Amino acid sequence: MTSLAHDRFRSFLEGHREFLILSHIDPDGDAIGSCLALARAIRAMGKEATVVNDSPLPESLRFLPHADWVERPNEVAGRAFPAVFVLDCSSLDRVGADAARLVAPGVAVANVDHHAANDGFGDPRLVNVEASSTAELVYEILEACGVTIDAEIAECLYAGVASDTGAFRHPNTTPRALRLAARFVERGARPARTAEALYGRKSEASLRILGLALTSLEARSGGQVGAITISREMFDRAGAIPEDADGIVQFAKSLAGTRVGLLVSEIAPGEIRLSFRSDGTVDVNEVASRFGGGGHKNAAGARLRGDLRQIHDQALEALDRAVNGGLPPSAG
Ligand code: 5GP
Ligand code: MN
Repeated sequence: MTSLAHDRFRSFLEGHREFLILSHIDPDGDAIGSCLALARAIRAMGKEATVVNDSPLPESLRFLPHADWVERPNEVAGRAFPAVFVLDCSSLDRVGADAARLVAPGVAVANVDHHAANDGFGDPRLVNVEASSTAELVYEILEACGVTIDAEIAECLYAGVASDTGAFRHPNTTPRALRLAARFVERGARPARTAEALYGRKSEASLRILGLALTSLEARSGGQVGAITISREMFDRAGAIPEDADGIVQFAKSLAGTRVGLLVSEIAPGEIRLSFRSDGTVDVNEVASRFGGGGHKNAAGARLRGDLRQIHDQALEALDRAVNGGLPPSAG
């Protein structure tokens, strides 16, 4: 971190005594791990930190120390927060509509993120596309502020790095990510427990929706694109909720020969979620942005309203253009 960003974050932390900490909807281990690590550090400074997420906390993240600190927007309605941290969000609206209402006009907003498409909201800002995870950046801030990394902070930051690197398998598994992970383990993070919680345990509903989802697998664009589609009816039949389908996109990408995996799921009637995963030869952040979403070059997503089949067809058309030599310039 540059000394300038370092100073600005230290002043931000010194200048307020009550903080709201937000992250994106449909949170993953990086979003929640980063929020809880920062909250614990702020509380250790004798200050107040409130963690809010617009979505329910996924079952797989309940093992994190102080997971019960994560509240829903309605639990803090009416409270005023003078300073807000927004973590792992490329834009402020990623926190979700209800959480965004907790950010009153004019309050100080700090932006800590590693998405290429970060729109530069907030001040102070620490945005680094090279970082494996937002957890890595939260660590930099805590280190610069002289915070002791205890076992609980270490476990939360480790979960962030492990989650965003896909258990140290994705191309963002840098030497720095591995060194930090080792440091967090030295301070008390438990890799086996984290891996078990994030990847090793599935609810019955998750396994049932996986079974149904796999029956929809298609190889498209001459085998370069793997696609899985989950309809409302499939969710109902499996007794599953959208969170139970987290991770299924990896199966689309795991189909031998593919460059991109796509998951199209109808998370509510007429509300469609697209999840893209790429092997690095296709920029899915660009593809997702065409559907009003975003993310990273190798992992991106979007949420939109419309007909499942129609959006499925449009996503596959966009991917077909992307794998066959780049996209034409976007309209408008
Ligand atoms: P997932 O497919 O796991 O939902 O998301 C993969 C990546 O894309 C994550 O980095 C996530 O933050 C980002 N992402 C997912 N959905 C959206 C979206 O609707 N808008 C933006 N800007 N990013 C998204
Ligand atoms: Mn992240």
